[in-house]
Order: sequence, then structure tokens, then C-alpha cells
Amino acid sequence: MLPLQRYSRTVDNSPYERVLPGKTAPVFPYTMAEIGLENYSHFVLTPFANTMLTDFAKEALVGEALGKDENTDVLCLSYSTPDIAGHEFGPYSLELEDIYLRLDKELELLFSTLDKEVGKKNYLVFLTADHAVVPVPQQLVDARLPGGYLDVDSLTEVANTLLVKKYGEKLIRKEKNLNLYFNRDKIKSLGLDLPAIQDEVAEWFRTNPMVQTAVSAHVMDAGITLNTWGEMIANGYTKERSGDVIMILKPGLISRSEDSKDAHQGTTHGSAFNYDTHVPLLWYGNRLKPASVVRPICITDISATLVHFMELQRPASMTGTPIEELLRK
Ligand SMILES: [Zn+2]
Repeated sequence: MLPLQRYSRTVDNSPYERVLPGKTAPVFPYTMAEIGLENYSHFVLTPFANTMLTDFAKEALVGEALGKDENTDVLCLSYSTPDIAGHEFGPYSLELEDIYLRLDKELELLFSTLDKEVGKKNYLVFLTADHAVVPVPQQLVDARLPGGYLDVDSLTEVANTLLVKKYGEKLIRKEKNLNLYFNRDKIKSLGLDLPAIQDEVAEWFRTNPMVQTAVSAHVMDAGITLNTWGEMIANGYTKERSGDVIMILKPGLISRSEDSKDAHQGTTHGSAFNYDTHVPLLWYGNRLKPASVVRPICITDISATLVHFMELQRPASMTGTPIEELLRK
């Protein structure tokens, strides 16, 4: 969007970025003709996907007559391109910087449409992210910072081999997003104690120097108080869908086979660490008291704050705390 010297990133062709189909290097300019229109799945990692979403939002404001009567309307938008492109290029890429500069223009357009359609004094906006991201782990490795890759699939196979030796059967069915799902039918048919097997496997993973912690599902079901990292796992735990053992890798590590294609390019998110959990939270609107807040705020505090602004009753199981700094005295 801008001349190269106006960006804070100076390197375009970085070894840590994935090369998109149709390209020979991860460099500007990117054109849809080059990326290939037959491959629409790549449209979502271009800034034009954000433009399309802004267009939808503008249509929704007008078509649904949002904010036109005495009832509160809620419009939720998810600009997902920073996430999708972030996986491909990493947070320190020129591509991501360009995407955010262009997203800023989209937001400008969105706010001016809100001013026009709803009125400057009639809306409240909050802007945040569901997660951030770890720098490309290979970039961390090369900078001698903590980080790297751990092939959790292979590690799970080793754990299964040990379980076969001891119990005669593979007891871990699948590893997905650092959740280990057990073959519970098999455990039952062998007359084994599920919580005991969970603890045994969790303990084995905890002894790995690349694993921060691993927690058994039965421990979380019982509501036992955990350490900081165990608590982070428990926050994302649900009995119906989570694994029998859930782990967190050490900071800077992602689960990936070193031999996979693009193994040392691109990155991902999903850890409990600051690089993943520390996200911006911006509020904008007529009823706000200007404030800059540096203390930790949880994502659950957003709905608690909205409930306060809308003068509603708190829903039964709401756990957040209103952000007091925003509330007019
Ligand atoms: Zn993602």
C-alpha cells in the first residue's frame, strides 16, 4: 500500500514466510492473477477479504436498519485475514504490516458509515482479538531465543508404545491440538482405571523437558485448584469435547514435524503464553470515559462491561468484571 521505506519492516523476502502457490518468493507485489483465481481458498489471506467483510457490514447496517429504533442491535464482525495471513507469513512480516495498515483503512470506512447511518452518539464499538501468535519458531531458534518445534504426533506414538508394553494395547486414540483422546472402550474392556491411566500419561508427558505441563481430565472435572498453567488449560476445558490429557508446550514451541513441508515457515497460535494471550482491546463510543488501562483484563470482562452499558441483568453464569475505567462517574 505504501512505499517500502514507510513500513517498519524492511525485509520482504524472508526465509520464515511461506511462498504462496503461483509465487516463487514471499514478496510483493501479490496479485490475484498470480495466486490463481481457481484457488479461491487463498482469497481469505489477502487484504481484499477484509474489504469484502466491510462491504457486508455496510450492507447489513443499511439493509437491516441497525441502530434505527429504540432497541439495541449488535453487529459482530470477524476480520479473520490477520489470523490466516499470520499463519503463512508470521507476525514480523512485511505482508502482515501491510494487512494491518489496510485494515486500518477498512475500520475508518466502517466508522464513517456508522457515523452516517447510526449517528456519532449512538453506537459503542469494542475491538479485540481472540488470540495473538508466536513468532515463527525458526526465527526464534535463529535468534537464540526459546522456541522451536516438537513433533507431538511422534511423542504420542512413543507413549502408546510404552502403554502397549505395560497393558498390551494402544490406549491413546488420537492427539489433536495438544489434547490426547483415549480409547475409553478399550480401557474399560481391559478393566483399567481411567483416571489412573490419565494421570500416568500426564505424568509421562510432564517429564518431557519440552512440555510445560499436562493435566488429566478427571482433575479438571473434580474442580481441583491448579497452578497458573494448569488453570489456563482448565479455562479451555469442556468435559464433552476436550481430551483425557491436555498439555501445554514450553514457550516458543509449536507442535509440528520437522520434516513436514513448510516446517520452518509460518507459525500458529493456541498456547497459554503472553505472545498468544496478550491482545489489544480498544473501546470507542460516545458514552465512554477516556482511559488507558494497563492492568490485565480478561475477554470475559467485555460482556460484563456491555451488560453494564446496556443496563441489563447479568446472565446467570457470567463471570467477568466490568471494566471500571470505562464507566462514566
Ligand atoms: Zn489461526
